[in-house]
Amino acid sequence: MDDVEVVVVGAGVAGLRCAGLLQAAGRSVLVLEAGDGVGGRIRTDRVDGFLLDRGFQVANPAYNALRAAVDVAALEVQPFPAGARVLADDGAHTVADPARAFRLAGASALTALPRPAELWALGKWAAPLLTGMRKEHGLARHLLQARPDTSLRVSLDKVGAHGLLRATLERYLAGVVLEDEGETSAAFALLLMRSFARGRPGLPRAGMQALPDAMAAPLAGRIRFGEKVEHVEEIDGRARVWTVGSTITTDRVVVATDAWSAESLLGRARLVAPEPKGLVTDWYAVDEAPETTGLLHLDVRQDRGPAVNACVVSAAAPSYAPAGRHLVQATSLLPAGAEPAPESDVRRHAAAMLGGSEAGLTLLRRDVVPHALPVQPAPLHFRARQRVDEVTLVCGDHRDTASTQGALVSGARAARAVLASFASLGEFA
Ligand SMILES: Cc1cc2nc3c(=O)[nH]c(=O)nc-3n(C[C@H](O)[C@H](O)[C@H](O)COP(=O)(O)OP(=O)(O)OC[C@H]3O[C@@H](n4cnc5c(N)ncnc54)[C@H](O)[C@@H]3O)c2cc1C
Repeated sequence: MDDVEVVVVGAGVAGLRCAGLLQAAGRSVLVLEAGDGVGGRIRTDRVDGFLLDRGFQVANPAYNALRAAVDVAALEVQPFPAGARVLADDGAHTVADPARAFRLAGASALTALPRPAELWALGKWAAPLLTGMRKEHGLARHLLQARPDTSLRVSLDKVGAHGLLRATLERYLAGVVLEDEGETSAAFALLLMRSFARGRPGLPRAGMQALPDAMAAPLAGRIRFGEKVEHVEEIDGRARVWTVGSTITTDRVVVATDAWSAESLLGRARLVAPEPKGLVTDWYAVDEAPETTGLLHLDVRQDRGPAVNACVVSAAAPSYAPAGRHLVQATSLLPAGAEPAPESDVRRHAAAMLGGSEAGLTLLRRDVVPHALPVQPAPLHFRARQRVDEVTLVCGDHRDTASTQGALVSGARAARAVLASFASLGEFA
């Protein structure tokens, strides 16, 4: 294997994107993956006939890096309806555009009509998105130029956002950025809102794993599983890669692991990982669906339970449950160092949000994911440096935006930098 030109460490979507582009450019690539399959944080298992992702997550066809990496149509994404069902102190509301809300909730949708002042404030908050609407690339830069980036909470305070719309937005985003203190970059939140508005996020027919599987297909025979890389070093202008049982010498190495593994592999002198944010997803089987819209359910009451969102997954994505049964998920946040909320509390809360009886929810699996995402505070730093030394690069969602899109962009960027270094056309990233 010493004739391999590039070793990629990690078969998450960043590593797969990098390896795929290098192979397509005619370079010999070997991917070393510690686990037993591709996908990293994007994995799906079949349990009792249900498809369970390892933590509730969605694929967003609006991510341009996703469209560049796979044939999105072939994933057969089953979309969630846009909008949310919100439990507030004055009752339950369907928050969506008025036509859709009426279709989903009938006359009761009218109770959630936002006041003009609420709409105006959120319009001001989102204004930089409107001025950059036509940009397919460079939107993040545009947002940072349009106004200094602050935390989400400060940015909403500044425009005077309040009421049900703000509470809904914050709760919705908390389930995406995995924190509810509002500390995430407002520019990142705007980027996310734009991608939700442009796409119909959903679940591939074969589960989220279909995404990395599609990317891995052209790399058949070039991925080795159960190969935990323990050490990477530059020696005489080449890279030496140590796993438990072997040593490989190669021209370039791309460390495409999660941030925390990259830090322990390369050492803190070479890479400092951002703080992690975690989540817990409880997956339940039900015989009778408590509701049939597939809408995401949120709770913005003062006194609420631990779930940041819940939904009947199979109402939107029927392939996730066997015929005659239904799949429910409830996700709660897991800040660094915290203990997961008791499952019984999550179950009670999910039943309160979705309607239906707590006893009807049969736990299929609890996924506890302490390292789901790196923090993404203000000011937003995207396109972080990837070069470690003359022969080593690092890529992954911690080098770009904390998302599938960010991981894919980072993987592609690393591939381009490797190719440029081979061609001596430019600098390493
Ligand atoms: C539950 C959950 C929900 C999410 N929801 C969304 C969502 O809805 N939308 C969105 O855009 N993003 C979401 N994300 C984030 C998204 O999944 C990640 O940003 C993305 O998958 C990161 O990909 P990556 O390739 O950078 O890293 P990873 O997926 O972490 O891949 C790294 C790979 O490196 C391997 N590895 C680690 N150490 C070593 C080693 N020493 N040797 C060899 N291999 C090693 C790992 O086993 C892994 O396969 C979610 C994440 C989680 C966990």
